[in-house]
Amino acid sequence: MGEQRLLTRAAEVVREWQIESQPALQRALDSPPSEIDSAVLRRLQQLFEAGGWVMLESAIADLPADLRWLHESGTTTAAQLALLHEQIDVTSLADLIDAVDAHALSGVQGLGESVEAAIRAALPELRRSTKRTPLGRAVALVDPLLEEIRSSPGVHWAEPAGSLRRAEETIGDVEIVVAADDPSMVTSGILDAPTVDRVLYRSARRLYVLINRSQVGVRFPEVEKAGPALLRLTGSLAHFRALEARAAERGWRLAPDGLWTPDGRLQRAATEVEVYSALDLPYIPPEIRGDDRAIAVADRGRLPPLLAWQHIRGDLHMHSVWSDGHDSVETMVRTCRNLGYEYAAITDHSPRSGAARSLTQQTIRHQADEIAAIRERIPDIAILHGCEVDILPDGRLDFPDRVLQQFDIVLASLHHRAGQSPEELLRRYAEAMHHPLVTVITHPANRSVPNNPGYDLDYDRLFELAVQTGTCLEIDGAPGHLDMPSTMAHRAIAAGVRVTVDSDAHSANGLARQMRLGIATACRGWVEPRHVLNTVPLAEVRALIGRKRGD
Ligand SMILES: [Zn+2]
Ligand SMILES: [Zn+2]
Repeated sequence: MGEQRLLTRAAEVVREWQIESQPALQRALDSPPSEIDSAVLRRLQQLFEAGGWVMLESAIADLPADLRWLHESGTTTAAQLALLHEQIDVTSLADLIDAVDAHALSGVQGLGESVEAAIRAALPELRRSTKRTPLGRAVALVDPLLEEIRSSPGVHWAEPAGSLRRAEETIGDVEIVVAADDPSMVTSGILDAPTVDRVLYRSARRLYVLINRSQVGVRFPEVEKAGPALLRLTGSLAHFRALEARAAERGWRLAPDGLWTPDGRLQRAATEVEVYSALDLPYIPPEIRGDDRAIAVADRGRLPPLLAWQHIRGDLHMHSVWSDGHDSVETMVRTCRNLGYEYAAITDHSPRSGAARSLTQQTIRHQADEIAAIRERIPDIAILHGCEVDILPDGRLDFPDRVLQQFDIVLASLHHRAGQSPEELLRRYAEAMHHPLVTVITHPANRSVPNNPGYDLDYDRLFELAVQTGTCLEIDGAPGHLDMPSTMAHRAIAAGVRVTVDSDAHSANGLARQMRLGIATACRGWVEPRHVLNTVPLAEVRALIGRKRGD
């Protein structure tokens, strides 16, 4: 049996035998019905092992997986799911919400009012049960694809959508929106991309592919309607609803599929900026579109300039092969220079960090010599020789002062709780922050996304201590950290804390991506360039370090 025939037959078997769950598949495998070719069952098992229900789902209804939970929860049958897809073009949660809102199901034979009501009732629960992807993983999935798409001919812009673009810590549907003159040309480029394992679904304006066993959707709205489409797919829903209401107040109509003037003409809006400006609003960064608050602030003309890539002058936290990094100091520095930074700090670990390798009092001298030589070779970026020193359980630092004094900058961190209570951890931080050589506390919550929420400290007290001692707190952009998280960063700047936004990269290719994640996290906390140490020229950074050291 050829591959295509095998897949078609597999889809039929899934439908006929109502194999809608893993136990049902297992039963069929355990005692194969004589009517089913064993090769088909083997293929089904392979599909399941390769991509779980993502793959089986596409066999059931030629449908991407986002809606899997609709029938796993018993809200619809697989046949109704297929109708939703085929008749009203629903392929994601955002589509489903819009379809229910527009009463699009009631007129479709086989769906109707009752199914619509059932889906409406199930939506809040379904939304919660959608499998979520950590932000770092989602970014790593779409970045190469975005690069590929943006370099295709006839592409005006390509952006990730949904919670990914809003830089939430975990992502639901992973989707990209593309404004392109000819979607088919872009599509064929995507299909040739080496990262794409398999196509799940393809139509003129939509494409769903499997990359590293995760589903990624690509949508191509018509160019003149692409602004509203990106706005709607980026969300949040509350933000878009508030924009719709604002349009209505002005006699306009905004919908996911376009913007209409008061006299009913379609207003060309190829970008989000065009939509905002038609509604007398400045552009609102996606990171603060989590609710309708930003619109109210922007309406009063009070939207502050939030931190963006162009404000960053340097990166104050990264690792090299001298500790657990993968690249040499020189490679890290060259990459930083190519990113346009004015300065970069190499900050390897001290022995107690538990890192696979760390600096010792002996190797620090060798590293200093290496950095001196690189300064000669790469004169157009300043290199700070720093370290990320562990704060020991008793609050002392993992290197003696005479060693720490040799560094241009000292970051201090907790990597081990040592069984201590929140009060003891706070005392440990306090001790380090009072140390004149410590400039920054890195990843203060010491959490790991998405599973470990981090220390349950009295953070208001921590912020007070940071202000009193002139110590900065970090927003660490490593995908496993994103620490401080945005809500905490927001409280920190409100308390007057100076923050740093760093990559904590352990390889050169993490430098830009992790800095971007740090910036997005800061942005979500309404952090402005004036709150951030590494937006200022090097002389000012050195002055801040010197003030605390009492130089
Ligand atoms: Zn660390
Ligand atoms: Zn680090």
